[in-house]
Amino acid sequence: MKKKTAVYPGSFDPVTFGHLDIIERAAKIFDHIFVSVFTHSSKKNMFSVPERVVMLKTALKGKKNITVDCFDGLLVDYVKKKKTDVVIRGLRAISDLEYEFQIAAINRTLYPGIETVFFMPRQRYTYLSSSVVRDIAHFRGDVSKLVPPHVAKAIARRGK
Ligand code: ADP
Repeated sequence: MKKKTAVYPGSFDPVTFGHLDIIERAAKIFDHIFVSVFTHSSKKNMFSVPERVVMLKTALKGKKNITVDCFDGLLVDYVKKKKTDVVIRGLRAISDLEYEFQIAAINRTLYPGIETVFFMPRQRYTYLSSSVVRDIAHFRGDVSKLVPPHVAKAIARRGK
Protein backbone atom coordinates (compact mmCIF):
# COMPACT_ATOMS: atom_id res chain seq x y z
CA MET A 1 0.00 0.00 0.00
CA LYS A 2 1.17 3.52 -0.78
CA LYS A 3 2.42 5.42 2.27
CA LYS A 4 0.62 8.69 2.84
CA THR A 5 2.94 11.46 3.93
CA ALA A 6 2.39 15.15 4.63
CA VAL A 7 4.29 18.34 5.36
CA TYR A 8 3.46 20.64 8.29
CA PRO A 9 5.18 23.97 7.60
CA GLY A 10 5.35 26.98 9.87
CA SER A 11 7.53 29.45 11.68
CA PHE A 12 7.27 27.62 15.05
CA ASP A 13 8.84 30.63 16.80
CA PRO A 14 8.51 28.98 19.27
CA VAL A 15 6.58 25.69 19.07
CA THR A 16 3.45 25.83 21.24
CA PHE A 17 0.95 23.29 22.61
CA GLY A 18 -1.30 24.39 19.71
CA HIS A 19 1.22 23.20 17.10
CA LEU A 20 1.75 19.95 19.03
CA ASP A 21 -2.01 19.37 19.18
CA ILE A 22 -2.22 19.67 15.37
CA ILE A 23 0.78 17.34 14.89
CA GLU A 24 -0.75 14.75 17.24
CA ARG A 25 -4.03 14.78 15.29
CA ALA A 26 -2.30 14.62 11.90
CA ALA A 27 0.01 11.79 13.02
CA LYS A 28 -3.06 9.60 13.62
CA ILE A 29 -4.08 10.00 9.98
CA PHE A 30 -0.82 10.18 8.02
CA ASP A 31 1.95 7.55 7.95
CA HIS A 32 4.69 10.14 8.12
CA ILE A 33 4.82 13.87 8.79
CA PHE A 34 7.62 16.25 7.90
CA VAL A 35 7.45 19.17 10.33
CA SER A 36 9.44 21.95 8.73
CA VAL A 37 10.56 25.33 10.00
CA PHE A 38 10.27 27.88 7.23
CA THR A 39 12.16 31.14 7.29
CA HIS A 40 9.91 34.18 6.99
CA SER A 41 12.20 37.14 6.43
CA SER A 42 9.32 39.54 7.15
CA LYS A 43 8.76 38.22 10.69
CA LYS A 44 10.55 39.41 13.76
CA ASN A 45 12.12 36.28 15.19
CA MET A 46 12.63 35.30 18.79
CA PHE A 47 14.64 32.12 18.13
CA SER A 48 16.97 31.21 15.26
CA VAL A 49 15.87 28.50 12.83
CA PRO A 50 18.33 25.91 14.28
CA GLU A 51 17.06 26.71 17.81
CA ARG A 52 13.45 26.22 16.65
CA VAL A 53 14.36 22.91 15.01
CA VAL A 54 15.99 21.67 18.23
CA MET A 55 12.95 22.71 20.31
CA LEU A 56 10.60 20.87 17.92
CA LYS A 57 12.84 17.77 17.92
CA THR A 58 12.85 17.73 21.73
CA ALA A 59 9.06 18.11 21.85
CA LEU A 60 8.58 15.29 19.34
CA LYS A 61 11.32 12.95 20.61
CA GLY A 62 10.47 9.27 20.27
CA LYS A 63 7.77 9.80 17.64
CA LYS A 64 8.99 7.58 14.82
CA ASN A 65 6.59 8.82 12.16
CA ILE A 66 7.65 12.47 12.48
CA THR A 67 10.73 14.15 11.04
CA VAL A 68 11.74 17.72 11.86
CA ASP A 69 13.80 19.89 9.55
CA CYS A 70 13.93 23.35 8.00
CA PHE A 71 13.66 24.92 4.57
CA ASP A 72 14.40 28.28 3.05
CA GLY A 73 12.31 28.55 -0.08
CA LEU A 74 8.88 27.96 -1.55
CA LEU A 75 6.61 25.48 0.18
CA VAL A 76 5.74 23.78 -3.14
CA ASP A 77 9.45 23.08 -3.76
CA TYR A 78 9.83 21.55 -0.31
CA VAL A 79 6.69 19.44 -0.81
CA LYS A 80 8.04 18.10 -4.13
CA LYS A 81 11.45 17.44 -2.55
CA LYS A 82 9.76 15.32 0.10
CA LYS A 83 7.80 13.46 -2.62
CA THR A 84 4.46 14.25 -1.05
CA ASP A 85 1.44 16.31 -2.06
CA VAL A 86 -0.26 17.11 1.25
CA VAL A 87 0.20 20.22 3.39
CA ILE A 88 -1.14 20.32 6.95
CA ARG A 89 -2.29 23.59 8.48
CA GLY A 90 -4.09 24.47 11.68
CA LEU A 91 -7.26 26.51 11.90
CA ARG A 92 -7.92 28.29 15.17
CA ALA A 93 -10.80 30.51 14.16
CA ILE A 94 -12.53 31.96 11.15
CA SER A 95 -9.95 34.75 11.27
CA ASP A 96 -7.26 32.25 10.17
CA LEU A 97 -9.33 31.21 7.19
CA GLU A 98 -8.76 34.14 4.86
CA TYR A 99 -4.97 33.90 5.09
CA GLU A 100 -4.96 30.11 4.90
CA PHE A 101 -7.39 30.12 1.96
CA GLN A 102 -5.12 32.48 0.05
CA ILE A 103 -1.96 30.44 0.71
CA ALA A 104 -3.70 27.16 -0.19
CA ALA A 105 -5.02 28.65 -3.44
CA ILE A 106 -1.62 30.07 -4.41
CA ASN A 107 0.11 26.78 -3.66
CA ARG A 108 -2.44 24.98 -5.83
CA THR A 109 -1.75 27.43 -8.65
CA LEU A 110 1.99 26.74 -8.36
CA TYR A 111 1.52 22.97 -7.96
CA PRO A 112 -1.93 21.69 -9.03
CA GLY A 113 -1.43 18.28 -7.35
CA ILE A 114 -1.15 19.77 -3.89
CA GLU A 115 -3.85 19.35 -1.21
CA THR A 116 -4.03 21.41 1.97
CA VAL A 117 -5.63 19.64 4.92
CA PHE A 118 -6.81 21.62 7.95
CA PHE A 119 -7.01 20.45 11.53
CA MET A 120 -8.74 22.18 14.45
CA PRO A 121 -6.96 22.13 17.81
CA ARG A 122 -8.76 21.43 21.07
CA GLN A 123 -10.69 24.46 22.18
CA ARG A 124 -8.29 25.60 24.86
CA TYR A 125 -5.60 26.20 22.22
CA THR A 126 -7.73 28.21 19.81
CA TYR A 127 -6.46 31.49 21.31
CA LEU A 128 -2.83 30.39 21.27
CA SER A 129 -0.20 31.60 18.81
CA SER A 130 3.59 31.91 18.84
CA SER A 131 3.22 35.70 18.71
CA VAL A 132 1.09 35.66 21.90
CA VAL A 133 3.84 33.61 23.55
CA ARG A 134 6.49 36.07 22.34
CA ASP A 135 4.44 39.01 23.68
CA ILE A 136 4.03 37.39 27.11
CA ALA A 137 7.74 36.45 27.12
CA HIS A 138 8.66 40.03 26.32
CA PHE A 139 7.09 41.12 29.62
CA ARG A 140 8.47 38.04 31.43
CA GLY A 141 5.03 36.57 31.97
CA ASP A 142 4.30 32.89 32.68
CA VAL A 143 4.16 30.81 29.49
CA SER A 144 4.16 27.39 31.18
CA LYS A 145 0.56 26.61 30.16
CA LEU A 146 1.26 27.49 26.52
CA VAL A 147 4.52 25.76 25.61
CA PRO A 148 6.38 22.58 26.65
CA PRO A 149 8.73 22.91 29.69
CA HIS A 150 11.97 22.96 27.62
CA VAL A 151 10.59 25.84 25.52
CA ALA A 152 9.55 27.76 28.66
CA LYS A 153 13.10 27.26 29.98
CA ALA A 154 14.64 28.53 26.73
CA ILE A 155 12.37 31.59 26.90
CA ALA A 156 13.38 32.23 30.53
CA ARG A 157 17.09 31.94 29.59
CA ARG A 158 16.54 34.39 26.75
CA GLY A 159 15.00 36.92 29.15
CA LYS A 160 18.02 36.98 31.46
P1 ADP B 1 2.77 30.99 10.32
O1 ADP B 1 4.25 30.99 10.37
O2 ADP B 1 2.20 30.45 9.06
O3 ADP B 1 2.15 32.29 10.72
P2 ADP B 1 2.88 29.28 12.63
O4 ADP B 1 4.26 28.90 12.39
O5 ADP B 1 2.59 29.99 13.90
O6 ADP B 1 2.23 30.02 11.42
O7 ADP B 1 1.95 28.02 12.59
C1 ADP B 1 1.95 27.08 11.53
C2 ADP B 1 0.56 26.53 11.38
O8 ADP B 1 0.07 26.12 12.63
C3 ADP B 1 -0.47 27.51 10.83
O9 ADP B 1 -1.36 26.78 10.00
C4 ADP B 1 -1.19 28.01 12.06
O10 ADP B 1 -2.51 28.39 11.76
C5 ADP B 1 -1.17 26.75 12.89
N1 ADP B 1 -1.27 27.05 14.31
C6 ADP B 1 -0.50 27.86 15.07
N2 ADP B 1 -0.93 27.90 16.35
C7 ADP B 1 -2.01 27.08 16.39
C8 ADP B 1 -2.94 26.71 17.42
N3 ADP B 1 -2.88 27.20 18.65
N4 ADP B 1 -3.93 25.88 17.09
C9 ADP B 1 -4.03 25.39 15.83
N5 ADP B 1 -3.23 25.70 14.82
C10 ADP B 1 -2.22 26.54 15.09
